[in-house]
Amino acid sequence: LKFSEFGLKKDLLSAIRKAGYEEPTPVQEESIPVILEGRDMIGCAQTGTGKTAAFALPVLHKLTLLKRPRVRALVLTPTRELAIQIFDNFKKYGRYLHLRTVCLYGGAKRGPQIGALRRGADILVATPGRLLDFMGQDLVDLSSVEILVLDEADRMLDMGFLPDVSRIVESTPSKRQTLMFSATMEKEVRQLADRMLKDPVQVQV
Ligand code: AMP
Repeated sequence: LKFSEFGLKKDLLSAIRKAGYEEPTPVQEESIPVILEGRDMIGCAQTGTGKTAAFALPVLHKLTLLKRPRVRALVLTPTRELAIQIFDNFKKYGRYLHLRTVCLYGGAKRGPQIGALRRGADILVATPGRLLDFMGQDLVDLSSVEILVLDEADRMLDMGFLPDVSRIVESTPSKRQTLMFSATMEKEVRQLADRMLKDPVQVQV
């Protein structure tokens, strides 16, 4: 299978070529068509499998450029390091698009993150604590979210983020597409999926 067979925008295919990717990884091959179709999805995939591009590429494909950006895609991830990695990936794959991606995480000054939000965001990559903090101060509006990604769901649960994640998810429209990735599929992860996903396609790699 080739990347060109997914029907992705030309600017995305150029960025994939520039990244030097020759062909999709198994998780990408399985996930990208499902996400493009608009289905909810639960993916069992470890880091290193190419799971970030598996959701970032279809998310970037689906968002059209608006005059005034609003947060239409939200990626929740447990740690600052992962947030920065995902943000860098969105930058890399979106290099020929003009969508705005903003990254929010704790343990860093709030000022620059607030400034970035004020300049506008189409895509938000965030850790739960800092995002809730900003939501509490009306610095972020999630009422336009169309696609929600819960990355490393098992780690978010292990780190005790369930209450935070629940509050954040409840602040997004119920009519949204939800994607969840987890390295493991223990009972807690399945319960989370049952609560937050609608008729999800399961992708296992
Ligand atoms: P991830 O699992 O998302 O952390 O990705 C692991 C690494 O694989 C990252 O360094 C990506 O840049 C790289 N990668 C993702 N997709 C591909 C691909 N289709 N071909 C080659 N490398 C890739």
